[in-house]
Amino acid sequence: MRALITGGAGFLGSHLCDRLIAEGCEVLCVDNLLTGKADNVAHLKGNARFTLIQHDISTPLEPAGPIDYVLHFASPASPVDYLKYPIQTLKVGSLGTLHALGIAKANHAKFLLASTSEVYGDPQVHPQPESYWGHVNPVGPRGVYDESKRFAEALTMAYHHEHRLDTRIARIFNCYGPRMRMDDGRAVPTFIGQALRGEPLTVYGDGAQTRSFCYIDDLIEGIWRLMNSDVHEPVNLGNPDERSILEIAKKILGHFNGTASRIEFRSLPVDDPKQRCPDLARAKASLGWQPRVGLEEGLGRTIAWFQQLAVSS
Ligand code: UDP
Repeated sequence: MRALITGGAGFLGSHLCDRLIAEGCEVLCVDNLLTGKADNVAHLKGNARFTLIQHDISTPLEPAGPIDYVLHFASPASPVDYLKYPIQTLKVGSLGTLHALGIAKANHAKFLLASTSEVYGDPQVHPQPESYWGHVNPVGPRGVYDESKRFAEALTMAYHHEHRLDTRIARIFNCYGPRMRMDDGRAVPTFIGQALRGEPLTVYGDGAQTRSFCYIDDLIEGIWRLMNSDVHEPVNLGNPDERSILEIAKKILGHFNGTASRIEFRSLPVDDPKQRCPDLARAKASLGWQPRVGLEEGLGRTIAWFQQLAVSS
């Protein structure tokens, strides 16, 4: 089997490359390295079944040879990144999805779109089932990401219905683990970086807003199961263990005995969702999947990875 992964050098994409290689696939990793890093896949460089193609999928690509799976993961994905690259974010969600779907169509390949819980915006239904249409501000700062992913879902379903393309849509909730960028602005790597440097942990607002964090290994297992399923409707993938951001900051601090860091409150970003928690009924019923790694264990593994990175660099 040959798989093409866009965004393959990113946080999620690189773990997916590892999984597909482990499953015996040949992997074409397509990435323009805007927010991804070649370092994330450096360990695969000598593998005969792995190729890194530096290319922006917002422009057309005609890969040589047959493709069996297309997994479209390319996009700036943290608020800091997509606010820095708003037009690239809109382009990769629209034109990039069009080109990725085109590659799948030309090759009669199975297609999987990495969508996001951001399609639910600042949700008024809690937890969020896939049937909820969301509460998104199209012209707010997060609109560039939210709307590009909503468009990407619509385009994917159009290819499924009109071209009978074999598609899947994963709605991915907050995920964390090794290979996140410490400067991507997300809560978990930001707090870990601040604790490592002995700086204050910057909690936005009063920290009462909630998120539900899923460890990377669980998410990749869910993606793999979805890829091998016949579910064409969107499927939520995440961990329903909902926590306030203040609690996450305190938990991370708790892993650093004797650190000089404390918690400092900063202003809340515009349109920051107040709550976020996946309803996993569909994932459980159709994929037999649910997350297994608890927050303590996952944070421990992630912190250990960042500590090792700090020592080696
Ligand atoms: N957050 C925070 N301090 C930071 C970074 C993020 O309090 O230094 C908050 C942010 O306002 C949000 C939550 O943590 O409420 C999760 O933010 P993240 O960027 O990780 O993900 P997203 O907002 O996309 O869910």
